[in-house]
Formats: sequence, structure tokens, C-alpha cells
Amino acid sequence: QTKNDSMPPVPENLLKPMEIPARELFGPGPSNMTLPIQDSASRSLLGHLHPEFIKIMSDAREGLQYVFKTQSAYTFAVSGTGHAGMEAAVLNLLERGEKILALKTGIWGQRCANLAKRLDLQVQTVEAVEGNAVPFDEVKKAIESFKPQVLFVCQGESSTGVCQPIDGLGELCHQNNCLLLVDTVASLGGTEFDMDAWGVDCVYSATQKVLNAPPGLAPISFSQRAMDKIKTRKTPVASWYFDALELGNYWGADEGPKRYHHTAPISTVYTLRTALAEIAKEGIDAVIARHRKNSEIVYGELEAINLKPFVEKKEWRLPCLTTISVPDGVDAAEVQKEMMAQGIEIAGGLGPTAGRIWRIGTFGANSNEEKIRHVIKKLGEIVQTKRSRL
Ligand code: PMP
Repeated sequence: QTKNDSMPPVPENLLKPMEIPARELFGPGPSNMTLPIQDSASRSLLGHLHPEFIKIMSDAREGLQYVFKTQSAYTFAVSGTGHAGMEAAVLNLLERGEKILALKTGIWGQRCANLAKRLDLQVQTVEAVEGNAVPFDEVKKAIESFKPQVLFVCQGESSTGVCQPIDGLGELCHQNNCLLLVDTVASLGGTEFDMDAWGVDCVYSATQKVLNAPPGLAPISFSQRAMDKIKTRKTPVASWYFDALELGNYWGADEGPKRYHHTAPISTVYTLRTALAEIAKEGIDAVIARHRKNSEIVYGELEAINLKPFVEKKEWRLPCLTTISVPDGVDAAEVQKEMMAQGIEIAGGLGPTAGRIWRIGTFGANSNEEKIRHVIKKLGEIVQTKRSRL
């Protein structure tokens, strides 16, 4: 056999146009891009150390400080999706053998525990009753007995729609020599978050939810307390790519001359800057208030079509992502499929909630009264046809 005989054939599929249907993305992410964000993705590339690009990074950093509500210099974006934010946080904040306590209100606390085990950390979890947040007293008891170096909390649990209250946890952690780490991938901009006022030591998010940008960057911020720990580690962070000091230098968080660390995903940084500019124009508090107001419309519309919210306690509902109990006898996946056939994505459950709930994300520009009424009207029509067959 000659070398050429073993060559794979020319991939015929690549010679045809790529098919991308128009779709209203009302699942748990990604959400739809706005036109300015989409346009910014197609602008010319710059070099990753060109002064004009460094200025764009610096603008984005300021925007992230504004949305996280922090003065912390170590505020930037990790190249990678939300998981990259989680990995960067855990890798930097902890050294091998140290302890992390993870609150479990769905799958994300479990994912963090899984990662921590791979990194040879000691892990404990506190599990909420399904559809509920973990009560403060249970967190306090677990911190006082386990004595972790880090508490992991997912603010917006996208698999259940639970919003875990954060206020008060910073104080509790600091009284117990513990750092507070918060996942805001599904919640940043969609509900209140105040890094400095709440004493959060590390927070990460992602670009493809409320920010309406493509997936690919994980905004992150480290407090002074977190940086003090990172700077006095006994062992170097076991990752070059996620090292907060190296990333911080590249993003301009320290005073030193900028070093090449990696090639930033240039176009994705453009989209992040554009997304943050849109939030700055509307005002972060106005964005949060809009999500809160529109979530009332979601619940009102659901009640009108006789669908029940999965999270019973109103104060534990995540305003930008609504979970709905699937009525008995209705096939959740079939309804999702029929919605998709009409160009609308809504999602089913994830992990233990699979088949039992629907998840409707109303992120950023999709948190819009008209769009919400349209999506829930369609859902109501489809569910009605299923019910009438029961
Ligand atoms: N945390 C939460 C709360 C999420 O909803 C997600 C994504 N659905 C992630 C982390 C992981 O983000 P990614 O898929 O962007 O890696």
C-alpha cells in the first residue's frame, strides 16, 4: 500500500455550506448574541500584545470590575468556558491536601467536588433538599466542623434554578479562616452580586449567558485576601495556563512589564468588551432589575397556563433561569422537540432533574417581555395538545 492509498478522502461535507438555522436560545445557555456583539466578532484581528488590543483588554477589565462590583486589580478573563473559571479558581486558591467544602444545590457543587478530588484535595459537600438552597446554619455547622480553606458556592444553579443566598457567607468564612469562592456562570447580571460588599474572595462567570457573547471566556476576580494566599503558596500552581499571577500580568493587573503568557482569543475578547459596553450603557443595576421584573412575567405566564415552578420558595428562584415541573403524563423531551421545530430552544433537566423539569433561560437581551410572552405562549400551546390526549 502506498502512502497515498491510506490518505482519508477529501471530506465532501466540508465542500457544502455550513447550515446554521435561526434559533431563539431560551435554554440555559448559550443565549442569543445581540447584533453589536455579533458584529464585533468579525472585526479584524490584532496581535495579542499590540497596544490597541491591550487597551481593549483593559477596557474589558474595567467592565468586569463594574459588573462584579469590585475594586480588585486581579479581575480579568480566563481563556476557556465556565469550567476554565472553576479550574482556575480551585487550582490557584488551594494547595494539594487542603480542604474544600462545596454546597450542593444541583450538579455544580458536585462538579467542583469531582475536580477537587482529581487535584488531591480533601472534599466535603453539604447537600440541599432538591429545589432548595442550603440554609445558612447548615453551612455554618459544616464550616466549623470540617474547617475548609475554601467554601464553594454556586450562586445560580442552572440544573435546578435555585439561587443560593451569598450575603453573610463572606463574614462566616473569614471568621473561620476560609476563602469564599462563588460560581456566577448562570447568574452574573441576572441577579444581585456584590463581590466587595459580600466579602467574596474569588468569583468566576462565563460569557454566553447574561452577557450574550459567545462561549470562550471565563471572567474571574480574586480579592486581596485570595491574592495574599496565592502569593504565599508553598508550591507553584500546578498549571501554567491557569496561573493567576501569570494571567494577571498579561491582563495588566500588576505593575510589571507585560509578558507573553498565551495568545488571547482576540475576537472573543472583542465580544466581551462589546457585551460589557452594553451593560455599562444600561447600567448594571438596571440590567439586574430588568431580569427580576421579567421573571415575574415568566411566573405570571406560567401560572396562566397552569404550569408549576420547580423552586417553590420565591426568594430562592434564579431570576434569569426558570425551572418548571413537567406535568404528570407529559413527555418532557417531546415538548422540547416540538418547541425546537418552531425555532425555540428550551431545555430539559440536567443530572437528577432530567425528564422532570424544563429550564427556560431568559438571559440578557432575551430577558424581554415580548419574547418571554411569545416563548411561554408556544410552550402552553404544545403542552395543551399533550394534556388533551391524556
Ligand atoms: N457553572 C454553571 C452554574 C453553569 O450553568 C455552567 C454551564 N452551564 C458551568 C458552570 C460551566 O460552564 P461552561 O459550560 O461554559 O464550561
